[in-house]
Amino acid sequence: DVVTRFAPSPTGFLHIGGARTALFNLLYARHHGGKFLLRIEDTDRARSTEPAIAAILDGMRWLGLDWDGEEVFQFARAERHAEVAHQLLAKGHAYKCFATAEELEAMRAEQRANKLPLRYDGRWRDRPESDAPAGAPFVIRLKAPREGAVTIDDRVQGAVTVNNAELDDMVLLRSDGTPTYMLAVVVDDYDMGVTHVIRGDDHLNNAFRQLALIRAMDWREPIYAHIPLIHGSDGAKLSKRHGALGVDAYRDDMGILPEALSNYLLRLGWGHGDDEVISRDQAIEWFDLGGVGKSPSRFDLKKLENLNGLYIRAADDARLADLVAPRLGVALSESQHDLLRRSMASLKPRAANLGELADGAGFLFRSRPLELDEGAAALLEGEARTFLAQLHTALDGVEAWDTEALEAAVRAVAEDAGVKLGAAAQPLRAALVGRRTSPGIFDVLALLGREESLARIADQMT
Ligand code: GLU
Repeated sequence: DVVTRFAPSPTGFLHIGGARTALFNLLYARHHGGKFLLRIEDTDRARSTEPAIAAILDGMRWLGLDWDGEEVFQFARAERHAEVAHQLLAKGHAYKCFATAEELEAMRAEQRANKLPLRYDGRWRDRPESDAPAGAPFVIRLKAPREGAVTIDDRVQGAVTVNNAELDDMVLLRSDGTPTYMLAVVVDDYDMGVTHVIRGDDHLNNAFRQLALIRAMDWREPIYAHIPLIHGSDGAKLSKRHGALGVDAYRDDMGILPEALSNYLLRLGWGHGDDEVISRDQAIEWFDLGGVGKSPSRFDLKKLENLNGLYIRAADDARLADLVAPRLGVALSESQHDLLRRSMASLKPRAANLGELADGAGFLFRSRPLELDEGAAALLEGEARTFLAQLHTALDGVEAWDTEALEAAVRAVAEDAGVKLGAAAQPLRAALVGRRTSPGIFDVLALLGREESLARIADQMT
């Protein structure tokens, strides 16, 4: 059975690239009816704070990246990691290295001077322990094969080969008895029953060393799939200067819906023909590693916003109102919240994010007299105010305050004055919204209601 995992190291947020890795792991597992596990690699104690871990879990839940079972914490498993290092030692697949830090520095200095790759030279590989002074500190190193080559048949990268001569004997256990990252990852993946290691291709080099360790333990080898990293619009590896890296910023600052971000990340590096809008269920049905591209994809904020707009238009109005309400900067009464929900239908078609929805809905909750922006103020200069008075009279006479009756009333005034409907709507919009842009003017009137609409118009008549 397929078991995948996502193994983030806490950095303070769920990285957008990490979220994509997690998504691919989730989809692969779900597609094959397997399990998707989460392991928090919290061995960097300074960075692995409560909030940093919570940020990852929150981000995953928000994106619907639901993992199976309890999350595993790597640091808590240090004893088990050490145990494996000692097993390797007992089997003769690892050895104690007593080289001091100064000694290793001198070795590297010489390698540097001779323009050789910096590599541990194996000086304790075949040396008896009795050569070391009693009680001297040591690390445990893997006795990696020196001859031959290793080929990984990576599901994304294809066959990749590295000569064993290029890999030195890596440290498994430090002199203070703590495990290295390489050891911890391999032991955890094994204990968690991970069958498929799907992760960023910045880990491809590690895979060769990890495989040497797996083979030394005679454990089952996982299938590897190393996904190209996400790049920025300029083709360089995605970094802060390209924009937000944390998933939380897309949610909080940019007002992106989780299903939109998830869909966007899916398409970033994986394709299914020309399909752009892909539901989670479809993604589970279609996802396979064969569709993952070999070259890095570029993050395109415009595309994400377009997709977000599509999902906003498809989203339920009550849900949108709940998401928009906290962005308004005012506390809403129950009836105002209901008004917000009713306004969504006319606001949705133009919004690319929740911030724009909130911005568009803001006029509903502003207090009178409305502050007009420059454009709106310009629309209400001169004749316009007399015209507003005519509109006020006509609207005041409307019996049923619905869009049809409202349109008929405004049309009649426009015809009398010999202007087009659009021209008549402009001062009306300025008075009702305080801006030059808004949803359809009859929707605005209907949403505001008779009393508030007439009052706002009256405010601007004099
Ligand atoms: N903790 C590693 C990272 O955050 C991932 C390790 C792995 O996937 O093997 O980059």
